[in-house]
Amino acid sequence: MNAFKHSLLGAAAAVMTLTAMPAQAQQKFVTIGTGGVTGVYYAVGGAVCRLVNKDRKDHGLRCSVESTGGSAYNANAIKAGELDFGLAQSDVQYNALKGEGTFKDSGAFGDLRAVFSVHPEPFTVLARKEVNAKTFDDLKGKRVNVGNPGSGTRASMEQLLAAKGWKLSDFSLASELKADEHGPALCDNKIDAFFYGVGHPSANIQDPTTTCGAQLVSITGPAVDKLVAENPYYAKAKIKGGLYNNNPQDTETYGVLATVVTSAKVPEETVYQITKAVFENFNEFKSLHPAFANLEPQDMIKNGLSAPLHSGAAKYYKEKGWLK
Ligand code: GLU
Repeated sequence: MNAFKHSLLGAAAAVMTLTAMPAQAQQKFVTIGTGGVTGVYYAVGGAVCRLVNKDRKDHGLRCSVESTGGSAYNANAIKAGELDFGLAQSDVQYNALKGEGTFKDSGAFGDLRAVFSVHPEPFTVLARKEVNAKTFDDLKGKRVNVGNPGSGTRASMEQLLAAKGWKLSDFSLASELKADEHGPALCDNKIDAFFYGVGHPSANIQDPTTTCGAQLVSITGPAVDKLVAENPYYAKAKIKGGLYNNNPQDTETYGVLATVVTSAKVPEETVYQITKAVFENFNEFKSLHPAFANLEPQDMIKNGLSAPLHSGAAKYYKEKGWLK
């Protein structure tokens, strides 16, 4: 077949696709950026999409989830128009909006919009039991995974180190493994500990506590007190004893909330439908991951949200009488 004929056939195929379109003209794709597949963000995205896709015939949205590097990556990808929605730690939401912290170079993302907050994410240090670490200070000189660039974990770790007056070089190794890799690395003795901002219970913590008896380590002290006092997005937190194998004691730490964010450029109707799908099916949503068990709509529409609510989300909350 010569090249001319080939391209004619291609054009014919294109025309056929176009003429076949009206039946599906309503269909619109939305993508939610999450985190590693063993984290909780991936479960949030999966739960939201499952509820959205249930009513696809009515609203025409086809929701899908993307595993990503985490909060900061998601905020940047939404800004670039590459993702419609994303999960972001509440500290990352704040810093992205204002162009602070890790967003200093990229500048303020004024179009960042909040949809709702989800589960608490206590900052979590998990260490090999042989290290015998009791508190964060015991990690000095150890091999520590500080989180991959693009993760909220990494951004928060840098803020913690700055508050403590530490540098990455205070660890004998500061590895940048992704969250899906840090558990196996811990049990394989490639690292002594990892830092992770995540909801509980998480498969990612369950595996190393079960497989190699890894121990949760508290994150407390004057630097943490100062961080919590000075920043609206931080609060003291506790990981309850007994949630994980071989860890019967409570672990004192501090943390953030997971939030769902989008851009002012995403249409009101799209955000309205996503919001509606979650709250009209709220009991089902809560049943999709144990970290969602204690969620309350009244909290989710205000706590941890520093960016303005997207108009599509606000429209739904007003209809429900949750917002004036
Ligand atoms: N908070 C983590 C981050 O932004 C992701 C946690 C998760 O995937 O559940 O890096």
